[in-house]
Amino acid sequence: MESKNLWSTYSTEQLEELNRISDKYKECLDAGKTERECVELSIRMAEKSGYRNLEEIRSSGEKLTPGDKVYAVNMNKMLALFRIGKEPLSHGMNILGAHIDSPRIDVKQNPLYENEEFAYLDTHYYGGIKKYQWVAQPLSLHGVIAKKDGTVQKVSIGEEPGDPVFVITDLLIHLAQEQMEKKASKVIEGEKLDLLIGNRPIEEVLGASDEDGEAEDTAAADAKNAAKKAQKDAVKANVLRILKEKYDMDEEDFVSAELEIVPAGKARDCGLDRSMILSYGQDDRVCAFTSLFAMLDITDAKKTGCCLLVDKEEIGSVGATGMHSRFFENTVAELIAMTEGESELKTRRALSNSRMLSSDVSAAYDPMFAEAFEKRSSAFFARGITFNKFTGSRGKSGSNDANAEYIAALRKVMDDAGAAYQFSELGRVDLGGGGTIAYIMANYGMEVIDSGVAVLNMHAPYEVTSKADVYEAVKGYRAFLKM
Ligand code: MN
Ligand code: MN
Repeated sequence: MESKNLWSTYSTEQLEELNRISDKYKECLDAGKTERECVELSIRMAEKSGYRNLEEIRSSGEKLTPGDKVYAVNMNKMLALFRIGKEPLSHGMNILGAHIDSPRIDVKQNPLYENEEFAYLDTHYYGGIKKYQWVAQPLSLHGVIAKKDGTVQKVSIGEEPGDPVFVITDLLIHLAQEQMEKKASKVIEGEKLDLLIGNRPIEEVLGASDEDGEAEDTAAADAKNAAKKAQKDAVKANVLRILKEKYDMDEEDFVSAELEIVPAGKARDCGLDRSMILSYGQDDRVCAFTSLFAMLDITDAKKTGCCLLVDKEEIGSVGATGMHSRFFENTVAELIAMTEGESELKTRRALSNSRMLSSDVSAAYDPMFAEAFEKRSSAFFARGITFNKFTGSRGKSGSNDANAEYIAALRKVMDDAGAAYQFSELGRVDLGGGGTIAYIMANYGMEVIDSGVAVLNMHAPYEVTSKADVYEAVKGYRAFLKM
């Protein structure tokens, strides 16, 4: 199949829209570095576009009518947006699904320790990573600290210009003769991914002086006592003092914290020609934010449109906020009750009559690693959305396999809308593989296909996408919602 490099096809107007979209996309990447941050940002954007919280509407007893825009949020990590269509909901929805969790390094529950006057946070990585890629670079800390009194403190350190950053150290090359002989999977081992966060012991006389409030005085006194108890852990004590001052947090509060370590810094244009974007977390936020943009753009559609942003895809879509949870199904049941009247059967019909683009990134053809790809079935940069009829590994195992009839209908929709697309597989047969949320939604009997944006260096701290593909994704998703 022949396809053109899209850059040579764009008009001035199209290039302007492309730049607008990629700028907005980069801002979203910067504001949404964790699943919680993505949900918060998406709700803010949706509310600006007239979306309302489903929970509030439901408790007021209000019914939903065509054109109504609502969202449902699950534990601040998963989000579903719906725009009620003219057709009954039980006739099915057009669903855009993507995940908002990304590979990263998580802080353990008993993380803080001192070793030879360095303070560290012990970690456990999340998702599939090449561990050696995460050392010797600036890292930031994002998340929440939930306390026993019910308050939840947000944390974000390392993104603002004046912020400190953190690092995981690597062995200097001069002494790395043995390390360099190791297998790549062993060069940096999981338990060596601890985050360096301090090197200065607590001071005898603490900074808390007269001008500080009473709370700080108490906090300082507590920390001082703790320091006295463990003189040898004076660096750790100092870290605890800072955490107490900044977040009113005790060491025990790590137990109920979710702290995620991600690369510090912003999304950047990549290439002299600025044709690409280099950023952390583009798997799968490149699909999530383009789906969200399309969803918020649509003002009129026959079918109910849905944009579903899920958590935990990188670890198997498990848990209450992963695609395997009943959250989505339950939300559709609520929507049926608020439109056509409570009906188990209509809920099932709404799900089985739906169509879905399960959007997740695909491997872009990389000439530097040509041997990993089969060229005719590879996704290329600047060729548009890439559809994967199936994913899986070793004989398509574990894959959703989209129906030919559904693919034909999508080809027509994309062609009519002038949205560019390509068909690809994730690399050479028998080399590895991957999964998405497609097969889970297919359990309802709906039409589902894997689609998304091609990415270079997937799962690395910084991943690369083509601005042209980001633009085509938004165009394609808009067309799909109007299908
Ligand atoms: Mn993904
Ligand atoms: Mn992934």
